[in-house]
Amino acid sequence: MKNKIIKTKLLFYFFIVLIFTFTQFSLPCHAAELSEPIILGQHYDVFRDSSKKTTIEDLVSGTYDNSFVTSKENFLFFWHTNDTIWLRLDTDELLTDKQESYWLEVTDKLDSIEMFIVKEDGSYSVQKRGISNIDDQKIHYRSNLFQIQDPSVKEIYIKLDGELPLNLISYLFTTDSFVNKIIDYKYLTGIFYGFLSALLIYNLFLFFSLKDKAYFYYVLYMFSFILYQAALNSLDIELMGHLLPKWYFIKSPAISGIFLLLFMLLFCKEFLELKKYLPQFHKTANLLLWITILSLIASFIVPDVTITDNFTIIFAVVVFIFLWLSGIFVLLKGQKMARFYLVGWTVLLGSIIVQALAFLSIIPFHPVIFEDIPAVGAIFESIFLSLALGDKINIIKKEHQEMQKMLNETLEHKVKERTQELERAKLELEKLANTDRLTQIPNRVRLDYVLEEAFEHAQHQEVPFSIILLDIDYFKEVNDEFGHQVGDLVLMNVAEILQNTIREQDTIGRWGGEEFLVFCPQTTLDDAVKLSEKLRQQLENHQFPVVQRKTSSFGVTSYADGDTLNTLLSRCDKALYRAKKRGRNCVEFLKDDVNVSSQL
Ligand code: GH3
Ligand code: MG
Ligand code: MG
Repeated sequence: MKNKIIKTKLLFYFFIVLIFTFTQFSLPCHAAELSEPIILGQHYDVFRDSSKKTTIEDLVSGTYDNSFVTSKENFLFFWHTNDTIWLRLDTDELLTDKQESYWLEVTDKLDSIEMFIVKEDGSYSVQKRGISNIDDQKIHYRSNLFQIQDPSVKEIYIKLDGELPLNLISYLFTTDSFVNKIIDYKYLTGIFYGFLSALLIYNLFLFFSLKDKAYFYYVLYMFSFILYQAALNSLDIELMGHLLPKWYFIKSPAISGIFLLLFMLLFCKEFLELKKYLPQFHKTANLLLWITILSLIASFIVPDVTITDNFTIIFAVVVFIFLWLSGIFVLLKGQKMARFYLVGWTVLLGSIIVQALAFLSIIPFHPVIFEDIPAVGAIFESIFLSLALGDKINIIKKEHQEMQKMLNETLEHKVKERTQELERAKLELEKLANTDRLTQIPNRVRLDYVLEEAFEHAQHQEVPFSIILLDIDYFKEVNDEFGHQVGDLVLMNVAEILQNTIREQDTIGRWGGEEFLVFCPQTTLDDAVKLSEKLRQQLENHQFPVVQRKTSSFGVTSYADGDTLNTLLSRCDKALYRAKKRGRNCVEFLKDDVNVSSQL
């Protein structure tokens, strides 16, 4: 099932990438026919007014003309500053088509931005934008938009002020190209946020079905990532500019950034199982979590966004590097689940480091750094983290299977062993129950069983079975003369001789006392008598210890139709009695109840 999840995921990403690629190809088609927007950066003259007292009238009068310095950068970047920034735009080269209505767009999230359009006669009109003037912009759009309807203006001044960092990415559009740009932007934003939301919902469902906490943190992480991206791209202003208080938009990058760090930490801690694999890192992660929570509270309380913004960026770099290292060490510990995690993390870390370097003015500021690189980095990271989750579940499943297999094998082995032991014990018991302790040959119990079986099969056999009953002659004397132990020795000897002399198919057993019974299957009376004689001679000729010679008497009979065990045995007994009577050390037989006996 988990394998299916990874496959579905890959398919899902494949379609997203496909849609994205098609979009990228289709966009330039209509854009090519229209005039390209002009990047305004290098067209500005910049005046940093640290007194903050300069007015538009002062500027129009030309008092500060010498204070303006032409910008060398395409994208102006002043970060947090207490100065008021004045920008002057040379309109002659820019507003070439006098019939056209132009649009000036500033994409940055700014506190206050005012544009003064100065006419030839020195009069001017003002357009106020930014969070402080949120209601002044009639078009609900993420950027600050200024319309220049009368291109015969003398000069344009822009005044930047407020708490937020003062950056300026600005473009000049003709109306048509601007409309086009909005369509493209909406399209791409829809795909970007649509993709992130789909990923979020998908993983939310996975969480519901798999109940793995890591999925829950991943969903929260994705959610805060969407909020963070929206704050960074001013999408929050576009969607909720009129609903939420102004302070939120000023603080939203820091707040959503810290939320992002919080859930990132929670996710990574859970996913990498730091507590289990890297206890020291686990402690550090907890410390970082506490710092994150405190900075979250601080970001609401501290009035100066400069502090929270700067702190968040530096802290974020620390957290990212920590989480990246955690991934490396967990992988070094042999945990394969960290593979996809590390790939995703490396991509994101790279993009974030580039962003941080630009923030800290170590590398030149460029809008791509704030818009495209983090977005692409984030998409890759989200995909790889999501794959990492599926991968981890797969690995866990495999481990479980292997463990189960091992357990089963051990269990099977144990059961086999126990069964064999039981089997052995059972055989042992059976042997004990069926063996005479003194002579180690079958006992009466065993003989009874053999005889019962023989009776069951007797009717179906052409040649019936025979039995021989033998009794040691004057055995009592042995006991009396030499003692019980010598008697026992003689019994053991007799048993051994009998055992060695009978045929393979015969069964010899101790019938009781000094009497033995031989069961001869498929044997005629004649053959049984012959065997008895053989046995008799063997015993007669044997040199017994102590007693030297010892003879035995034999009674022989065969199964006859209508016989029961009793009739058979009593006939055999009768034959033996006859042998005793005849003087012992001889064989007597009886053929059914007719008194036929013979002496050999
Ligand atoms: P007969 O020739 O008429 O068979 O004479 P017998 O002395 O062999 O017959 P009897 O039945 O009078 O005596 C059998 C003796 O066998 C009596 C008993 O003490 C002895 N006996 C039976 N079982 C054992 C045993 O396990 N060990 C020893 N040592 N003696 C046994
Ligand atoms: Mg006896
Ligand atoms: Mg006897």
